[in-house]
Amino acid sequence: MTTEGIASTPSAEVSSEYDVIVIGAGPAGLAAGIYARRAGLNCIILEKGVPGGQVLTSPLIENYPGFPEVQGIKLMDAMAEHARRYVDIREGEEALRVKSGERFEIEATSGRYSARAVILTTGSTHRKLGVQGEEGMVGRGVSYCATCDGFFYKQRTVIVVGGGNTALTDALYLRSIGSKVTIVHRRDSFRADKHLQDIVAQKGIPALLNTVVDEIVGEDEVTAVKLRNLKTGAPETMGVNGVFVAVGEVPSSQLASELGLAMDPGGFVIVDRSFRTNVPFIYAAGDVSGGIRQIVAAVHGGAAAALSCFEDLTNPYYKRA
Ligand code: NAP
Repeated sequence: MTTEGIASTPSAEVSSEYDVIVIGAGPAGLAAGIYARRAGLNCIILEKGVPGGQVLTSPLIENYPGFPEVQGIKLMDAMAEHARRYVDIREGEEALRVKSGERFEIEATSGRYSARAVILTTGSTHRKLGVQGEEGMVGRGVSYCATCDGFFYKQRTVIVVGGGNTALTDALYLRSIGSKVTIVHRRDSFRADKHLQDIVAQKGIPALLNTVVDEIVGEDEVTAVKLRNLKTGAPETMGVNGVFVAVGEVPSSQLASELGLAMDPGGFVIVDRSFRTNVPFIYAAGDVSGGIRQIVAAVHGGAAAALSCFEDLTNPYYKRA
């Protein structure tokens, strides 16, 4: 374990042997990195893309304390910058395989790493609708990210599919940039926060409830969707240029599965209240471990996982009998 003070530079870590390696640099991973390093653990974060996770795609966040209104990308830039004061974030370095033994051996895109403990903060990915036309039309009218792709649909007709916080936030964002947006939701009520539902109603954004998408239609680009009312069975074809799918998340738990971690039926890693998994020295936090899936919860989980890891690796005086 290192004995350096806080904010020691990442370049001081020349070894590929660490106390703990955090996999994934979303809010949970960044918090874990900060807490692990502040506790004195020699730690790095491996991130397959850029830091930020799913929050990067959120157009507006209004419930992260201290930031009444902030774009997801701005919040995560600030969080990553803060984390970099303490911990090296290896961007573009995907952990491909993790082998457990005396130490954990991690094979990543461009390097091999060894650690005494691992914190999995691998997040989640967008759930697909699974309808005809969806797969082939990604990037040609089908999108899972309103902030990334909304720009191309200004003044154009789009639907947002889903009834959760993401769907309603995306619909509000698309309306704000000038898209003609309709929400399509399979039930008769939204599960999104009431606050968002109220704003959607105030803005007069139309919603087709009890309605599902059966097919996404188009040759080179999306031109229409085939819808069906679940109450009446009535089919309808609606001309659209874009389909924004916001029907939830599936955990990125491939590594967890390979490591033999206990998972619930939804594929979320099961953790105790200290974010320990069923395998000693492996911790999980953030979306991959389920829960309420809020940024504050991810940050809490990452911090708690790092502190549990510190306790397990060091057996501090206040834990000894
Ligand atoms: P979510 O809360 O799981 O909602 C998914 C929505 O998609 C639900 O309305 C669900 O319908 C619908 N759905 C699921 N599968 C479907 C399918 N195959 N076909 C059609 N519709 C389908 O997902 P989310 O909105 O992405 O949010 C994920 C998590 O992030 C949540 O915990 C959410 O609170 C959080 N989040 C929070 C904020 C915020 O606090 N402002 C913003 C974004 C996300 P049913 O309702 O019928 O199940």
